[in-house]
Amino acid sequence: MKIAILSRNSRLYSTRRLVEAAKAQGHQVQVLDPLRCYMNITSDKPSIHYKGCELTGFDAVIPRIGASITFYGTAVLRQFEMMGVFPVNESVAISRARDKLRCLQLLSREGIGLPVTGFAHSPDDIDDLLREVEGAPLVIKLLEGTQGVGVVLAETRKAAESVIQAFMGLRQNILVQEFIKEAGGTDLRCFVVGGKVVASMMRRAKEGEFRSNLHRGGTPEPVKLTPQERATAVRAAKIVGLNVCGVDILRSDRGPVVIEINASPGLEGIETASGIDVAGRIIQFIEQNGKPHRTRTRGK
Ligand code: ADP
Ligand code: GLU
Repeated sequence: MKIAILSRNSRLYSTRRLVEAAKAQGHQVQVLDPLRCYMNITSDKPSIHYKGCELTGFDAVIPRIGASITFYGTAVLRQFEMMGVFPVNESVAISRARDKLRCLQLLSREGIGLPVTGFAHSPDDIDDLLREVEGAPLVIKLLEGTQGVGVVLAETRKAAESVIQAFMGLRQNILVQEFIKEAGGTDLRCFVVGGKVVASMMRRAKEGEFRSNLHRGGTPEPVKLTPQERATAVRAAKIVGLNVCGVDILRSDRGPVVIEINASPGLEGIETASGIDVAGRIIQFIEQNGKPHRTRTRGK
């Protein structure tokens, strides 16, 4: 097969591993910087060009689209979809996951366990919103933050009010969330490929930190998931429509709660912690599903 990987940097661990795994199975693979893809949107003949050449003959595309280039990256991916190339994750599903609020709304409708979460626009509603989510301690999050940046723990109501006011003053969209204290600075990363959890790890925050992100100094450890945690991760991925994703779960007193879904989950931590060839699983998924002109994208 001929596989495109949309990634800004071919030297990144995840990108390198995907290239390796594709080549190991005898596929042709090309890493494309999404910001260098340009598009011709013409009736009946949508096309993509890259550094002067037209991109043709791809069977599948693996999007690795970072948060900072979501708009252009998903537009490029959508163009591949319009050309009938099989996307490992659909552009619309990536957009759903990228917006934390949109994602939680979709999950809540289907009864997935979630931390109590509130969202408001006007500073006048802060008081009532804080009552709704049962006061401090509270976690406050930028809607489109990633890697733990823009996730703040407010221990008191006063602190929560000032942080919310500060973010609102900067015209940032935020959500406020019940603090799951009993998770003790750990979370579970469940790596889903094609409707199965293929690998998992527990991430533990460093001393004095509640955020367990590896980018915030957290450390990955092997973990055994309960059947309920597995089922939650698989259902959450299905609801958002992602074939490949990292579902982040906290162990709360009332069972697993999903805090976010990552549409371009990193491979380094999970492959190291679990010893599983996750890149190989993604390539296998493409081999089984990546038939040309059989994308399920409905483009909405
Ligand atoms: P990001 O997308 O920036 O990683 P997350 O929502 O995943 O943001 O939060 C980052 C980390 O903060 C999580 O991995 C988790 O360890 C911690 N965290 C997030 N939400 C909560 C919460 N409601 N209660 C306790 N810890 C949380
Ligand atoms: N891209 C990273 C991932 O998917 C972000 C989350 C983190 O910092 O742990 O794992």
